[in-house]
Amino acid sequence: MRIDIITIFPEMFVGPFSESIVKRAMQKGLVEIELHDLRAHTTDKHNRVDDYAFSGGAGMVMMIEPVDNCISALKEKRHYEEVIYMSPDGEQLNQSLCNQLSLKQNIILLCGHYKGVDERIREHLITREISIGDYVLSGGELAAAVLADSLIRLIPGVLNDETSALSDSFQYGLVSPPVYTRPRIYNEWEVPAILLSGHERKIEEWKLDQAIERTRQKRPEL
Ligand code: SAH
Repeated sequence: MRIDIITIFPEMFVGPFSESIVKRAMQKGLVEIELHDLRAHTTDKHNRVDDYAFSGGAGMVMMIEPVDNCISALKEKRHYEEVIYMSPDGEQLNQSLCNQLSLKQNIILLCGHYKGVDERIREHLITREISIGDYVLSGGELAAAVLADSLIRLIPGVLNDETSALSDSFQYGLVSPPVYTRPRIYNEWEVPAILLSGHERKIEEWKLDQAIERTRQKRPEL
């Protein structure tokens, strides 16, 4: 999978992409991420990427020309299945959308800033709009990092234990059962005896029961 990210703050991605699972996936060549600084696609000498909104009102708006230049340059190199604008009013991200998008070969993520982007970008250059929740961030970068992380961990070979993404919350409409590690007893708080029984079938049944019960308690709408 290849993810091209268009942003005016490429440095914001350094942290999220330089540790842990995403870093390893990049090193193994399972995902290629390229950051594109929108300012490099401006044509005026001040490298302007935003301007005042027509009709006034507070806040700046990201201009169409640099975004169009950047997307066009990328499209000349390869075919993109999706050009996604991160937007609070987009389709809300969930595990089934992550599963679906993780199967794509090449996608572009566009990060907005300020008041957002010129509406003509959304009308003509974007194939999809995704929100990471009903709240407003100051920019699309954190949202794009969340989306990228959620997709990358689903790519086969990225997680060590192949089945581990499948046993995570939401994959089967359930949240995960509880997990424990050593020590077996801490402050008189014990690990459920069943998990130490070695009885594999009973343990699986217990995990499923727990997952169902937790889902009922915490997320009944699932
Ligand atoms: N004026 C806009 C918000 C702009 S916030 C509105 O009210 O809808 C600035 C940028 O942050 C947006 O262009 C978008 O790219 C990003 N952003 C903010 N909240 C987001 C969210 N919940 N999900 C995805 N992107 C978000």
